[in-house]
Amino acid sequence: MKPEQESKGAAIDLESISKAYGGFKALDGVSLRIEPGEFMTLLGPSGSGKTTTLNVVAGFTDVTSGKLLVGGKNVVGVPAHKRNIGVVFQHYALFPHMSVGRNVAYPLTLRGVEPAARKARVARALDMVKMGDFAHRYPSELSGGQQQRVALARAIVFDPPLLLMDEPLGALDKKLREWLQLEIKRIHRELGTTFVYVTHDQEEALVLSDRIAVFNRGRIEQVGTGRELYDEPTTLFVGRFIGDSTVLRGEARSDGASTALRIAGETVTVPRRMAGEARPVMLLRPEKLAIRRPGQIAAGTNNRLPGTIAEAIYLGSGSKYEVRLADGTTAIVRSPLTGESFGLGEKVELCFDGADAKILADDSTAD
Ligand code: ATP
Repeated sequence: MKPEQESKGAAIDLESISKAYGGFKALDGVSLRIEPGEFMTLLGPSGSGKTTTLNVVAGFTDVTSGKLLVGGKNVVGVPAHKRNIGVVFQHYALFPHMSVGRNVAYPLTLRGVEPAARKARVARALDMVKMGDFAHRYPSELSGGQQQRVALARAIVFDPPLLLMDEPLGALDKKLREWLQLEIKRIHRELGTTFVYVTHDQEEALVLSDRIAVFNRGRIEQVGTGRELYDEPTTLFVGRFIGDSTVLRGEARSDGASTALRIAGETVTVPRRMAGEARPVMLLRPEKLAIRRPGQIAAGTNNRLPGTIAEAIYLGSGSKYEVRLADGTTAIVRSPLTGESFGLGEKVELCFDGADAKILADDSTAD
C-alpha cells in the first residue's frame, strides 16, 4: 500500500462482529480496519474464524451482531450480488461448459456491459494473469494453476474495489504456489484495489501481505506487518504462530529492573520487568540463540543453557538445529553456513542476550 498513490480500493471496517452457530461463537467480537488498497491477510489455524470473516465481508454469511462498513457504507443485510466484490476460492468454480473467455466475460454479461467493451476488458484481465492465449480453451483443458489464474481474471474483470481470496493456492504444489504468490502480489500492485486473503500458511502471509491479522478461536490476537508480528508479538500464540521460536518456562522472579527465570537448575535473566503476566514465559527467535560446543562460551557469560542436538536440518543457506534442554524444552537455533556444524546427540551449550528475549504471558495449556 503506497499512501502517495491514490487507491482505487475500498476501506473495510469490521466493528465487533460476532457470529454464533447455536451456542458456538465462530466469531467473537472481531474488529478490524482495512485501509483502501491494502493487502490484508487473515491468518490462523484451522477453525479460527478466517473463512467466516471473509464470508461475512462477501455477504455469504450474515452476522449475529456487529457492524460492517465497505467503503464507509454499512452493508449488513445487503445481499452478496449487490456488494460488487470479487471472490476467488480454493476450488476454482469455473463454469465447465464455458470457454475461458466466456467464463471471464460472465460478470460483465451480468452487468450488461456492451460486447465490444466486454471483449477489451476480458482481454485485459486475461493478459494481467498471463492467460491471454487461452481464451478459447475449456476449464478441463487447463492445469490447476491455470484454472486459478482464470478464476482470478474473472474476479477482477469488473474492477471491483475489493477482492476476497480464500486459500486460492491451497490445492497447488509448492513451486507453483510460490510463483503464483508473486503473481498475486504483482496484480495487487498493478490494480491498487483492496485485497483480503485467507491462509493458514504463515510463510505465504509474510510473502504477500501489507499487514496480517492473526486469528485464534474466533478472535483477532494481533494485527501488524510481518516484521511487527515476528519482532514484537504481543501474545505467546502470535509469537509461536509466526516463525520459529523457543519458549522457556520456569519459576519467574522479577525485581525492579529485570526478570529471572529458573530452568532446570540454570538461571536466565532479561533486563525487563514482567508486566503483570500471571505465568510469564520467555520467547526467543532462532537467530538470537548462539550454539557452541561445551567450554567454548567464555566463563562468566550469562544466560547459558546446556542441551543435546535432537535434530539437525541442512537448509542450504545454513543449518537449523533442535536442541533438547535439560527440562525437556525444545530450543530452535539457526546457524549460518559459515558456522560450525553439530551432529545428532552431541552436547552443546546455548546462550543469548537477555535483551533479545520477549516476556509474554503463558496462554497455552500444553506444549
Ligand atoms: P479453515 O482454515 O479450516 O477453513 P477457518 O479459520 O477458516 O478454518 P471457519 O471456517 O471460519 O474457520 O470456521 C470457524 C468455526 O466455525 C469452526 O469451528 C467451524 O466449525 C465453525 N463453523 C463454520 N461454519 C459453520 C456452520 N455453518 N455451522 C456450524 N459451525 C460452523
